[in-house]
Amino acid sequence: MDRLIVVSNRVALPNETRAGGLASAMHAALQEHGGVWFGWSGRLGSRKEEGALHHTEAEGISYVTMDMTRSEYDAYYNCFSNRTLWPLLHYRPDLIEFRRSNYEGYLRVNTLFADHLAPLIKPDDQIWVHDYHLIPLAAMLRERGIRNRIGFFLHTPLAAPSLLIVLPPHRKVIGALADYDLVGVQTQSDLHALREYFAQEFEATLKPGGYIDVDGKEFRALAFPISIDTAGVIASARESAATTPVTRLRRSLDGRALVIGVDRLDYSKGIPERFDAFGRLLANADSLRNRVSLLQIAPVSRSEVPEYRSIRRDLERRAGHINGMYGDPNWVPIRLVCKTIRPQLLNGYLRLARVALVTPFRDGMNLVAKEYVAAQDPEDPGVLILSRFAGAAEQMREALLVNPYDPDDVAEALERALSMRLRERVKRWRALMDLLEHEDIGAWRNRFLRALHGNAAPDKRGKSPAAQPIAPV
Ligand code: UDP
Repeated sequence: MDRLIVVSNRVALPNETRAGGLASAMHAALQEHGGVWFGWSGRLGSRKEEGALHHTEAEGISYVTMDMTRSEYDAYYNCFSNRTLWPLLHYRPDLIEFRRSNYEGYLRVNTLFADHLAPLIKPDDQIWVHDYHLIPLAAMLRERGIRNRIGFFLHTPLAAPSLLIVLPPHRKVIGALADYDLVGVQTQSDLHALREYFAQEFEATLKPGGYIDVDGKEFRALAFPISIDTAGVIASARESAATTPVTRLRRSLDGRALVIGVDRLDYSKGIPERFDAFGRLLANADSLRNRVSLLQIAPVSRSEVPEYRSIRRDLERRAGHINGMYGDPNWVPIRLVCKTIRPQLLNGYLRLARVALVTPFRDGMNLVAKEYVAAQDPEDPGVLILSRFAGAAEQMREALLVNPYDPDDVAEALERALSMRLRERVKRWRALMDLLEHEDIGAWRNRFLRALHGNAAPDKRGKSPAAQPIAPV
């Protein structure tokens, strides 16, 4: 196969320990095809020499990165990406802050990416661009004469057209997706939104096979629900279960059931409302008091964005209130940990938990939901409670699906999960594992790359895109 170029806001360099499932999948794809991973170095500085790039070679992969200046980073990343696009795509128009100067900064950084990347591209390379930070990149590469196949994957949800048009330059930003050969989204519902948006705003014709024709120019849009390294999580959860930190956590529970939540501190994750639902459970079910503990792992994220700073204080206040109301000298109902836990240890904690509470208001996919299922002991698996607004809910129908806007619904699901018999737990878990065994992160990247190469790639659990009639509006 042809050489692959992966482009993302941040490059996972070989010496960095922050590798997650996606980083490993990209490393594996790049190793197989040979190629380049291009993006920001993670460093802020002055870009004195025009065109200064950092090159690192490891295991057959070239890592090429560039620095950003503080003002570029603020406008492109902190502001337009994370204060405009992120709330827009997560259905929070009330939190959108739009400034033309930040939008210009976003375009400027995408231009820099295109200027530096274009000279590295060889005629047969395939290019795979990731996420909302880099939507205009294909259009900019096309302006520089690049005719290669370029694919884009959106890791977030895609909002409905009536919301997308809130963004003042939506025709330029969302419309720029038409310059890719292939656009991948997480779910059929995101795909529906994308097709409807182009039909409404560009009078595009929707064709079989996922093709969208905008003024005689075609691109293809398909759903590729992202997944996890299933075998890796199974092995690491099993190993981690016997380690000292996991044993210590088990002992500290003193026979109580563990409910776990794992989310970056982000308003889209619904953590404060989850605490309220847990409080509701303790208020309604006396028999569960002193019998269950909620461990919420919530590493701080995007702390330079104002909306994120207040979430932690809010969580501390709500946890303190519930702990004060129901706690005992020997029992703290909610344990809040605002730091990052390394993946192997996290998998051990997930295995220990009787229930996982995954209740985002919106989420592109939510990998923790999938990791929780893969981490379980097959003989005695726990129960996944999953928001119907997480992308994962489209595939994981055997979880207990809840509406996170209704704390009573979440509290009832918790009660049901905590009393669920082994037989039902195993049945639900088995069905979810079947999915994860067939559709792991390797299958996901292969399907995307096959489709980018031009071969059909229907979603196993979803219908093939050709079978999804969506009338042009
Ligand atoms: N994660 C981790 N340590 C933590 C918290 C999270 O390694 O302390 C990992 C988690 O296992 C998952 C990823 O970070 O792989 C979060 O992905 P998800 O799709 O759930 O949410 P996102 O942060 O991408 O919105």
